Parts: sequence; structure tokens; C-alpha cells
Amino acid sequence: MVLPVVKYGHPVLRLRGKRIEAVTPEIRELAADMLETMRAAGGVGLAAQQIGRPLLLMVADVGESDRPSTLHLGGAEVDVAAHMPIVLLNPVISDPVGKELGLEGCLSFPSITADIYRADSCSVSAMGLDGRPLKFRCTGLLARVIQHENDHLHGVLFIDRMDSATKVSLAGTLKRMQKETQAALPPVRKRAGRGLPTSVRT
Ligand code: ZN
Repeated sequence: MVLPVVKYGHPVLRLRGKRIEAVTPEIRELAADMLETMRAAGGVGLAAQQIGRPLLLMVADVGESDRPSTLHLGGAEVDVAAHMPIVLLNPVISDPVGKELGLEGCLSFPSITADIYRADSCSVSAMGLDGRPLKFRCTGLLARVIQHENDHLHGVLFIDRMDSATKVSLAGTLKRMQKETQAALPPVRKRAGRGLPTSVRT
């Protein structure tokens, strides 16, 4: 099922994801829906926060992209496309090497792209959708996408990594986007009792 993608200004994008202890049928369904949503939106990665769920869960697929990636599993280089899509639960990134400027977009920021510095390569350990530990090293676009999505899982957005000149030039657009998103949010439900005269509170 294609889910609505949360846009900038929604508070869930700033929440840290909750650890997933077990791969339940609900988690499997969520991962499948996230992949479907990502593809429908033409994206190469999606974090759970972006569909409104603050969980340590991301999906990615760089198999169709013309931007290069490499993937090392167990020390051996493998075919990237053959291992796509990937679903990572509770991912941890380590051993970042290099620094590369590259163009990024984000499904939560329609129409905005910017050059962002990311490590050129990194190691990833996570739990796979089969519940087993998953470890690999990656470079290029795959490394970039995983770093971008991993940021989402911790409430960090790509605008936080833009240089200040870019951020200044986007300030108006971002403000508008934030306002639009917040205007569309359902009103906060009043807590029981609030607004009632003191005399009738029990
Ligand atoms: Zn994003």
C-alpha cells in the first residue's frame, strides 16, 4: 500500500526512531508499504519517520540509478543491483571514509535539491528483515542514501547539513513548506478537563 509521505514541518521528522526488537508481521507489512511508497514517489530511499512512524527502519534501492555504488559483503564485492532492495532495521553506521559532495533530494522536501557532504564509504550493521544480523560496506550512491536515511532515523534532516549560503537561499521556501504542513495537521486534541470551570473538575 502506498502511504502518504510526511513533509517538512511535521514534528515526526524530528523524532528519534524507536528500536525494533522483533520482526513481526506488522513490521514486514510496514517495510513492504515503505518500498511501495518509495517506488511510487520515484525515490531511492525512505525512512520510517517519512511515513509518520518513528522507528529505526529504512528501505533503499539504488539498483536502477546511473550513479555508481559498490557493495562488499563478507569482504567480497558483490553485484549491487542483485542485492536491492535493502531493508535495514536498527542500522548503525561506522568507519566513514572520505568526504564527497553530491546532489541530494528528499521526498519530505518536494522540489528542493542541494549539494551535501557525505562520507564516500561506510560500514553498516543492522538487522535484516529475516531477523538476522546484516553487515556490509558500501560506497557511492548507496553509502550516500544510507547516510541520508540514517539521519532521518535520528531526527536529522538534509537541510541541517547544507552550507549556510544554501540554507539562506532556501529560507523562504522552507518557511512556506513548514507553514503549509502545519496548517494541514489535525488540531491537537484537548486534554480531558481542560477548559472546564474549576468547580466541575473532579
Ligand atoms: Zn530524506
